[in-house]
Amino acid sequence: MSEPRKLYIKSFGCQMNVYDSHRMADSLAAGYRETERPDGADLVVLNTCHIRERAAEKIYSELGRIKQLKTAAEKEGRPMLVAVAGCVAQAEGEEIIRRAPVVDLVIGPQSIHRLPDLVARAGAGTAIVETEFPPEDKFDHLAPPSLLATRARGVTAFVTVQEGCDKFCTFCVVPYTRGVEISRPAGKIVSEVERLAEAGVREVTLIGQNVNAYHGRGADGADWSLARLLRRLAQVPGILRLRYTTSHPRDMIGASANDLIAAHAELPALMPNVHLPVQSGSDRILAAMNRKHTRADYLAIIARLRQARGDLALSSDFIVGFPGETEADFAATLRIVDEVGYAGAFSFKYSPRPGTPGATMDDQVPDDVKSERLARLQAAINGHAAAFNRRCLGLTFDVLMEKPGRLPGQLTGRSPYLQPVQVMAPASLIGAMVPVTVTDIGTNSLFGVLADTPRIEADSRVAPSLAALGA
Ligand code: SAM
Ligand code: SF4
Repeated sequence: MSEPRKLYIKSFGCQMNVYDSHRMADSLAAGYRETERPDGADLVVLNTCHIRERAAEKIYSELGRIKQLKTAAEKEGRPMLVAVAGCVAQAEGEEIIRRAPVVDLVIGPQSIHRLPDLVARAGAGTAIVETEFPPEDKFDHLAPPSLLATRARGVTAFVTVQEGCDKFCTFCVVPYTRGVEISRPAGKIVSEVERLAEAGVREVTLIGQNVNAYHGRGADGADWSLARLLRRLAQVPGILRLRYTTSHPRDMIGASANDLIAAHAELPALMPNVHLPVQSGSDRILAAMNRKHTRADYLAIIARLRQARGDLALSSDFIVGFPGETEADFAATLRIVDEVGYAGAFSFKYSPRPGTPGATMDDQVPDDVKSERLARLQAAINGHAAAFNRRCLGLTFDVLMEKPGRLPGQLTGRSPYLQPVQVMAPASLIGAMVPVTVTDIGTNSLFGVLADTPRIEADSRVAPSLAALGA
């Protein structure tokens, strides 16, 4: 039998791309083994992000480096195929081949199940561009991960449950690159999570562009809400923790949302963190962004979530310098940061994206103003994140041990609130849920000591394979 060829796959951008990259690797597993480095690879796949200009441009610098490797490989008589997948592929299509002729294959996010087929045809001289939205559902045609591949990826996993978006925020490319909103059938998600649990996964994060808009068909013929799905998944043996991201404030209003908020009070497996992007604290800017909710709507949702679960860690995304944003609008954003007291947040300078309404709006904000506002916003966010972390000092909570830490003898896990926690502990505890007392606070993580024996032991099938990764 011939040696499997080597696949190097690199993900840019969001967790949905990480999930797609895993699925692509699984679908190619019959002929390719994953490698950590691009040199020596027979197939390089860049799974790209188009959300901001800088994210898209990164791909072209990466392709510059790949070109050198491909030239060197060709000199050794070893062909290397280069594929660009994901949202840049969808948005730029043929343009990628024009700018970077090193690329053999361009494949949009909805066609990734066709990758094995396209790879078999690629490299014959003419580059292939596959960016039509295909009629079939990619999830039905993607190979499921093998138990071994899942174990090697660790004890936490993402599962895409919803994809695409019909909301058309005026700054955002997602509706154009990922297509219309779809929810995967509930039964297929349950089977996938059961399979992950069998492989030793203990924590599952359900992901979607607007995950709380989930409305997948159940076996009973009814549309299941995200809350119903979470309740069902909490019954899967071996699954200890559930999270979901990213939520849209607009979908936190109504009957399904009430049920989701109630689940935070009732479901012990549902972890106390919610990522609910607000983007701006100004009603004027929210309207210009087409977010379809006001500042007051958002604060009312936060109040209801906190009523259900008082210790909830809230996080958000912010955009500064959207067209027309005045200093008064920005001050309203700073005020909402203080009012909510986020445990963390991502913040970005507005990046005009070709084809979106925002890109051609009047009153574009100069870059130096955006940079200055971003610095002030990040200082405010960091202050609240540090305060949230300080409140954890002295607390004891369960930590799911995930992997070796940076120091010898150290493990890294996550708190219920999603903070990384560093603990001196034996590698045999990877995959265990362990009570940890927080003794110190770092910039990006908490430090703790084991407070007791594991509440849930490590799965012996999982720990050795992770330990082999370097514990
Ligand atoms: N669907 C989610 C929502 O509506 O909140 C967000 C998904 S989007 C993939 C992730 C984040 O990227 C957004 O919340 C926004 O803050 C940021 N983003 C999107 N387009 C952007 C742009 N043109 N410039 C800067 N940031 C942008
Ligand atoms: Fe983009 Fe808005 Fe859709 Fe989120 S809701 S993916 S920001 S268009």
